[in-house]
Amino acid sequence: MKITKTITFDDVLLKPKYSDIETRKDIDISSNIRNLKVQLPIVSSPMDTVTESDMLIGMDKVGGLGIAHRYNTIAQQAKLVHIAHAAGSKNIGGAVGVSGDYLNRAKSLVMAGANVICVDIAHGHHSLMKNALKCLRSSFDETVYIIAGNVATLDGFNDLADWGADAVRVGIGGGSICSTRIQTGHGVPTLQSIIECAKSDRSAALIADGGIRTSGDVTKAIAAGADFVMLGSKLAGTEETPGEVLHVPEMVNGKLTYSMHKVYRGMASVEAQVDWRGHTSSVEGVSSTVPFRGKVEDVIQEIERGLRSGMSYSGSRSISEFQAKAEFVQQTASGQVESSTHINRV
Ligand code: IMP
Repeated sequence: MKITKTITFDDVLLKPKYSDIETRKDIDISSNIRNLKVQLPIVSSPMDTVTESDMLIGMDKVGGLGIAHRYNTIAQQAKLVHIAHAAGSKNIGGAVGVSGDYLNRAKSLVMAGANVICVDIAHGHHSLMKNALKCLRSSFDETVYIIAGNVATLDGFNDLADWGADAVRVGIGGGSICSTRIQTGHGVPTLQSIIECAKSDRSAALIADGGIRTSGDVTKAIAAGADFVMLGSKLAGTEETPGEVLHVPEMVNGKLTYSMHKVYRGMASVEAQVDWRGHTSSVEGVSSTVPFRGKVEDVIQEIERGLRSGMSYSGSRSISEFQAKAEFVQQTASGQVESSTHINRV
């Protein structure tokens, strides 16, 4: 049996290159892929603890894209999109599945103002995806941008592109709240999937999804060939995510204090499944809480600064130049220790 060696984010670093970039403002990180123009190649996950109206509006405001989750009725989801459209957002995404009401859902989302439909299933390289994509592609004109996924292989990427996807979500099993690899033994380390899918000769855009924790990971994903990154945990806990702020008691230096948290959960977690369909089938995610993080634009700004700085280390003024110049080096376990802050605090 052939066993392929793989890598992911912590296994590699980008080799610094000669740079003549004097200000990071000279770096263009916008993407213009077919009929979708974004200033920032960042997409928020279609999850019920990440993207509803406030995140749609927040992501559009910073130049990225939000995708409203589909774990609600068609009317509820269309309202989320309508609110963002009324608020003046330009790019608005909505997620649909591959069976049942997906076509009516997609039509309602487009009528409410969505210009991006995301066909959102765990194992996207599937015959049901083929039917759904062909049906959606023939139901809408080119002004509707269709994202589909997730896949982890080049064959998967090419098939979804051939079935009508304008962009394909790449990454299986790498999400911070995901237990797919534990439950099923399946998946491919996310950076490896990106490198493999970036070899595609199709024109579909590549959206790296799952396991992106830092602006360094965003930079590595884009260097490896991603046109966009999709973020769940990185945006979780911000003001714009759905859900209440929880005040969690904790003892700090013997004193009782309260820290602010928000729930972040996998859509295949017990908690999400019970809320949205009343029972569980295959549990492939967990529910957790993350610290409250303030405004999404502040989180995005920090990522944007890291990405611009990363591109200047490679001497690159545009994403295409960056992807052409980028060179990875593999690091050892001791290299990984050296790569994280490692001062001994006294
Ligand atoms: P994160 O950015 O590492 O938190 O990963 C977010 C991604 O995890 C999402 O965009 C989905 O692709 C994926 N995801 C969401 N919910 C689940 C789940 O319950 N199980 C497995 N993957 C999930």
